[in-house]
Amino acid sequence: MSAFGYKKGVLHAEGVPLSAIADAVGTPTYVYATAALTERFRAVTEAFQGQKHLICYSVKANSNLAILRLFAGLGSGFDIVSGGELARVKQAGGEPGKTVFAGVGKTPDEMAQALAQGLLLFNVESAEELEALDAVGRKLGKRAPFALRVNPDVDARTHRYISTGLKTSKFGVPFEEAVALYAKAKKLKGLKALGLDCHIGSQLTRTAPMKAALTKVADLYSTLRTQGHALEYLDVGGGLGITYSDETPPSAQEYARTVLLATEGTGATLLLEPGRSLVGNAGVLLTRVLYRKPTEARTFVVVDAGMNDLLRPALYEAHHEFQPVVKRRGRDVEVDVVGPVCESTDVLARARPLVLPRQDDLYAFMSAGAYGMSMASTYNSRPRPAEVLVDGAAWRVVRERERVEDLWRGERA
Ligand SMILES: *Cc1c(COP(=O)(O)O)cnc(C)c1O
Repeated sequence: MSAFGYKKGVLHAEGVPLSAIADAVGTPTYVYATAALTERFRAVTEAFQGQKHLICYSVKANSNLAILRLFAGLGSGFDIVSGGELARVKQAGGEPGKTVFAGVGKTPDEMAQALAQGLLLFNVESAEELEALDAVGRKLGKRAPFALRVNPDVDARTHRYISTGLKTSKFGVPFEEAVALYAKAKKLKGLKALGLDCHIGSQLTRTAPMKAALTKVADLYSTLRTQGHALEYLDVGGGLGITYSDETPPSAQEYARTVLLATEGTGATLLLEPGRSLVGNAGVLLTRVLYRKPTEARTFVVVDAGMNDLLRPALYEAHHEFQPVVKRRGRDVEVDVVGPVCESTDVLARARPLVLPRQDDLYAFMSAGAYGMSMASTYNSRPRPAEVLVDGAAWRVVRERERVEDLWRGERA
């Protein structure tokens, strides 16, 4: 979290005091740090040096065009889960030829557009989807390059809402069915088997589940090659965790060591799909205190950011540190930080010890760069936040605050 720190008691993003950004663009506002984004990308690249690989940044973690452009400029490919994300990648200057497409519900239209644009790889998640992709390929007179996303039935030991590699999960095809599906696909004219894929979950903080899953998948990769499938890519998914409070996720190096050991000898080009680990610690959500509300049971601090702006606490019981922009001295009290949204789950930080804020004080929800803005909604008819990208001592708005008129765009009274 080196990009965010205090200088003379004021929280800065690189060289910029967060108070300056709040004064200029208001709150709530997401603020991202270029140095942190770049550093994380380079750390992963360096950790995999000497191994044929492509980083496919997972767009859904943070899909702002400026961030996509930054990663594209660093040589990144992309991992998408919808046609809308492909459009964003292209708009930002990313290459479809370095883009992989996952998701259990790709429509034939989305497939056709992606195939026409020269997508690198479709990560297919069911037998019926494979047939649909074959039909799309034949219609366009092309062979759609695909990998099956297999479900290795490994417990990622993360929150159950972000675990994707168990038998009961909707993701991927059952491990045991993969060999038969590749054999079947070989007879289809609209398909070309090019890889094998897995992704077992998000916010992984241990290497053991990664190792277990990837060892199984690497074995299957070699088996498929032996059976005559000309696979080139082993897509190991994303999921590397970050520190929100006191987690100690593997470093990029440790992560790479685990992946490289498990996939050694496959000869595959590795596709990596990091999302959270590239952007999570590189962003904060700036917010302003509206009211303090002491009650018999609790002290509430009401801020101007709500669950519509930052959904993770309500959706996953996620933890974000809540830090004052200007440090204050005093005695800690226990508070619940809540947003304005009319839902009891609109609690952004629960039972936190902190010096009681004053009205208008600025605070930052830390580590909000991933699954923050990309999950924001206009629930309660609240326009979505602005986004700002800091670079050294400079900063710029990379998404304007949504306007009230935007709220009913396309509606008819
Ligand atoms: C969401 C997702 C990722 C990225 O996960 P992170 O935990 O953000 O790294 C990678 N691959 C697929 C298929 C995903 O759905």
